[in-house]
Amino acid sequence: MTQTTVAAYASPAPSAPLERTTIPRRALGEHDILIDIKFAGICHSDIHQVNADWGVGTYPMVPGHEIAGVVAEIGTGVTKYAVGDRVGVGCFVDSCRECDNCRAGQEQYCTSGMIGTYNSQGKDGRPTYGGYSTHIVVDENYALRIPEGLGLDVAAPLLCAGITTYSPLAHWQAGPGKKVAIVGLGGLGHMGVKIAHALGAEVTVLSQTLNKREDGLRLGADHYFATSDPATFEQLAGTFDLIVNTVSADLDLNAYLGLLRTDGTLVQVGAPEQPMPVSPFALIGQRKSLAGSMIGGIRETQEMLDFCAEHGIGADIEVIEATAINEAYARVLKSDVRYRFVIDVATI
Ligand SMILES: [Zn+2]
Ligand SMILES: [Zn+2]
Repeated sequence: MTQTTVAAYASPAPSAPLERTTIPRRALGEHDILIDIKFAGICHSDIHQVNADWGVGTYPMVPGHEIAGVVAEIGTGVTKYAVGDRVGVGCFVDSCRECDNCRAGQEQYCTSGMIGTYNSQGKDGRPTYGGYSTHIVVDENYALRIPEGLGLDVAAPLLCAGITTYSPLAHWQAGPGKKVAIVGLGGLGHMGVKIAHALGAEVTVLSQTLNKREDGLRLGADHYFATSDPATFEQLAGTFDLIVNTVSADLDLNAYLGLLRTDGTLVQVGAPEQPMPVSPFALIGQRKSLAGSMIGGIRETQEMLDFCAEHGIGADIEVIEATAINEAYARVLKSDVRYRFVIDVATI
């Protein structure tokens, strides 16, 4: 395959609505696969990047790092995938492959910086474009296999929301006998609840209100509390081994640290724009930890997909046509989605 032009949805400038356009996809290299994209999830961070909230963006920007599709063509040296295989692509499409983290399979922490699926620069020096498009070319080492039995539509959000919650739950050993709290029941949080429950932990949702309580219990939570009620913080003081905060808004971290038991850890996976003050006393008294975690490496992402398939876990989704992307963005900002929008790429 020589370089091709494919259809996509792009934002032409910071904060501008997305519109249909075309983008180039590179010619297939020796280890590349061409993926016929079927579904692409809409992640809250797509909106941050389109709005250049986290720094300068490259435009036109084609977001999308929750990609599920089928292999359409393979390079001459490809050994891991065959035409027709069901595959996914997550938040990065390459990394240096040489640093300690890359060698350890933790490409997301590549010390040279991973190459983002979009709004990044590929090794060929050209901008990367994400999953809101009909096709993508990616090195076989940075693709994931989507197991049979997992629908491509419900699998797409696992590539970001799934691994973002699975990785800290696995790293801090959520499982039988552990009390885990998930803060926020949105795209990330609803995956966190499902996965923590499947891992065997006792799961509590901490949400602003009790509005989604029934959903939370259906998804696998054992308990559900409203954080707008000050009594929650008294009642649950010193309870949790692990708290995963999926919320991207400012929270009083000190109050949440108070909910940890001795040696407990509060892991930040949401990314608020402003610094969040932490009192050392909230950590010192009971040897508590405040940590962060970002997506997962290729090996762990595959482990997560296999785990989800084994436990029948997909995302709860609302499939939309491409023309509804801008409307979907507005609804994500209002938390008006249960729990992930997924673009039917056939409509692009
Ligand atoms: Zn994401
Ligand atoms: Zn590296």
